[in-house]
This record gives sequence, structure tokens and C-alpha cells, in this order.
Amino acid sequence: MNTKNLTQPKQDIVLTGDRTTGKLHLGHYVGSLKSRVRLQHQYETYIMLADVQALTTHFNNPGLLAESVRQVALDYLSVGIDPEHATIFVQSMIPEIAELTCIYSMFVTVSSLRHNPTVKHEAQERGYEDLYYGFLGYPVSQTADITFCKATLVPAGEDQIPHIEQARRIVRRFNELYAPVLVEPQILVGERLEGLDGGSKMSKSLGNAICLDASPEDVRTQIRRAKTDPARIHKTDPGHPEVCTIYGYHCIFRKEDSGNIRERCQQGSIGCAACKAKVTEAIEEVLEPIRERRELYRHRTRDIDDILMTGTARARKAARQTMGEVREAMGIDYFTGPSAD
Ligand code: ATP
Ligand code: MG
Repeated sequence: MNTKNLTQPKQDIVLTGDRTTGKLHLGHYVGSLKSRVRLQHQYETYIMLADVQALTTHFNNPGLLAESVRQVALDYLSVGIDPEHATIFVQSMIPEIAELTCIYSMFVTVSSLRHNPTVKHEAQERGYEDLYYGFLGYPVSQTADITFCKATLVPAGEDQIPHIEQARRIVRRFNELYAPVLVEPQILVGERLEGLDGGSKMSKSLGNAICLDASPEDVRTQIRRAKTDPARIHKTDPGHPEVCTIYGYHCIFRKEDSGNIRERCQQGSIGCAACKAKVTEAIEEVLEPIRERRELYRHRTRDIDDILMTGTARARKAARQTMGEVREAMGIDYFTGPSAD
């Protein structure tokens, strides 16, 4: 696995993004948004509203995309992504991504996609049997997202590890087949946040998420209802923190005190309600500044559109450049390359 820490030299290019399938949540924050905010000041950073990838599972509801594009953009601005530093763009408005996807798909085998553990898991979770072509191939499209701007670093959740591995293989294959113009990316893996139901990762589509725009009241209620260790009925019952979703939240949002919480839970000297109250407070500390920034942008729809149009134009420039190099590498630059005149 290729992971990278932040002490690397400065010439990295960062790309990452989110499917426009609804509002972002705390899982996105700990898994990727937090590191993007930091990285944008160090590296050239591209952040993508992945509307085409959203279609892989929501092709029958394109209305959701139009709504979510602005919603996710607002989430970005609220967490502190700064359009002066990061290029925020819309995936479907970069046609070169579709072109690259098409080219890469010529030399990616169906079985390599079928064996991708994240694709397998998501297909199972969604009850897919006969897989849609676009869904099965979304790691190829992700490779196009990453390579159009020659990104070297992808801050993302651990579910993305197989996709980045696949992207690296595609890049190597392309470079071997034609000419070494593409760059192998590395992943910067963020923490994984479990969903409130304790059954799987926090996810927009599974209804087990705390959204970044949740009110203090919503957060309190959601945490109060979150699943804990089923063996604990009375406050003094000894607990098993390793099976408790809330303990997992302590490890992420209150790391310094998590050892203490672990012991007290095991001894039965702290009840679930008190334990949840501490987590709620720590989550509030994360969400409060996000809410404040959201207020600044909430009604500035025009400004948000401008940010997206400017970012998309900037991304398109990089995409055209790479596409030119790809065509040249493959010798399909018929009217501008050596075979023209
Ligand atoms: P969907 O259910 O529509 O697939 P999602 O909630 O899984 O949505 P994505 O847009 O697929 O979100 O993921 C965007 C990024 O956020 C990826 O880098 C992914 O790894 C990360 N991410 C999503 N959920 C979590 C989570 N619960 N914990 C950590 N990282 C996460
Ligand atoms: Mg997902």
C-alpha cells in the first residue's frame, strides 16, 4: 500500500472529491476534508464535485445532482476550503475526464474491476447483482479524475485504497504502452468514522450520518440514539468499548481522553449517557466553526456559482494540456502531431 506523510517535498499536486449525492457528513470531515483544508496551503489542490460518479448509482435521479452540486460546494466553503487556494470544479464539465476514461477502459480487464474489494462491498450493500457498466468501471473514471491534473496525492478514506492501487496500475500500463506522460498517485488515508447504526461506515446513502449542517439539537438527538454496546443495560454493567460506536467516536474526537473512557467503560464506572454527552460536546467543537462559516456563504448562491465556474475553467486548462500529451503519446494527435502535413 502506498501512503504518504506530510513531510514530503512541496511539488505534490492534490486531487480529491466527493460524489454529489447529498450533504457531506462527519465521516467526510475526518476521512478527507480535514486534511484537504491543511493541504491546500501547501500544494496545488484540486477538489472535484463528482457528479458523473454520482450517476453511477443515481442515474435515475439527476435532480439530486443539480441540488447537491451547490450543497457540497457550500459544505466545502464551510469547512474552510478556500477557493483562493484550491480549485473547486465540476466533474461533468471536464470532457477530457470522459475521454481519458474511455482510453483507459481499453486496457483494464473486467475481472480486475470485479475483484476490487470496495466495488464488491458497495455492490453487495446496494443489492446489485447484474452490475451496471458505469458502476463497475467507476475506478477507471476515478483514474481519469486523478490523472487529468497529474495529481500525486489523494487524501481520502480507506475505502479508496483499492481504487488508488488500480489507478497506479492503469498509469503504469499506459506509460509502458505509449510514453511516460502520466503520474502515479499515492493515497493519504484519513480516519474512518463508523455510522450511527454501528453496522458500517458513516455514509450519505445509508442514513446513518451526522451532516455537517446538523443543528446542536440534531447532534444531541442523533448521538443519544446511536448504537452502543448491547451488553450494557445498567450503568454499572462492564462494557466492551471495542464494539461500541461511541467509543470509536471518542478515539477520533477526544483522542487524549479515550484511554480513560475505555477503562471506565470496562469497569462500568461511566454510563452510556455521560459517555455520549462528552462526545456530543467534542463534536460540537468541530461543528460550531463550520456552522459560522456556512452562515457567511449560505445566501451567496451567485458567488458559489462563480467559484465553481472559475475553478472548472482552471481545471479544464490542466485537462486540455494532459489530453494533448496523451494524444501525442499514443500518436493520435493526427492534425497537430508529426503526421500532420
Ligand atoms: P455515497 O453513500 O453516496 O457513496 P459517501 O458518504 O460514501 O457517499 P463519498 O462521496 O463516496 O461519500 O466519499 C467521499 C470521500 O469521503 C472518500 O474519500 C471517502 O473515503 C470519504 N468518506 C466517506 N465516508 C467516510 C467515513 N465514514 N469515514 C471516513 N471517510 C469517509
Ligand atoms: Mg461512497
